[in-house]
Amino acid sequence: MGEMIYGKAKGIKDFIMITLGTGVGSGIVVDGKVVYGSTGFAGEVGHTIVEPNGRLCNCGRKGCLERYCSATGIVITALTKLRTTSERSSLREYKEDEITSKLIYDYAKMGDTLALSCFDYTAKVLARSLANAAEVTSPKKIFLFGGLSKSGDLLLKPLKTYFEQELYPVFRNTIDIELSGLKDTDAAILGAAALTFE
Ligand SMILES: [Zn+2]
Repeated sequence: MGEMIYGKAKGIKDFIMITLGTGVGSGIVVDGKVVYGSTGFAGEVGHTIVEPNGRLCNCGRKGCLERYCSATGIVITALTKLRTTSERSSLREYKEDEITSKLIYDYAKMGDTLALSCFDYTAKVLARSLANAAEVTSPKKIFLFGGLSKSGDLLLKPLKTYFEQELYPVFRNTIDIELSGLKDTDAAILGAAALTFE
């Protein structure tokens, strides 16, 4: 709602908001209204399963999107690659508990192929989930928010490419993926303020 009133979703009636933080949060707006569903929990894209029997999630199930496409998820991806491949990477100079999403970002920027492949994998998994979500509500735009979205083109470029590939053809080239227009520090308070307009 904050995005609708103060951000880039002004005048847009159908959009999806995805927060890539330590987990993955999301909100779905259809015809200008946030979708709450019968429980109030509708729009939990972060806990849709992207890999059967996959990574254990904090919700107790396995394979949820947020275990792959959050700041935590990309670290797990990097650690898995470091443990299971012999690919050269400057990340090998660090202890496992020193590897953060920011470090992976920094090395990807410097051209480290293992770090880059972590972003590519994250983008691929996220693209499929966004395509699935988009096919349900046909949004005009998808806005990304949160720490991992600040990786900019490292994530956004492969994400857009994979997203178009994964989409059901009638939806291709109809949905923009953009970064949120809200500042992190303001987002929660602007969303809360926006609620009072309802
Ligand atoms: Zn989960």
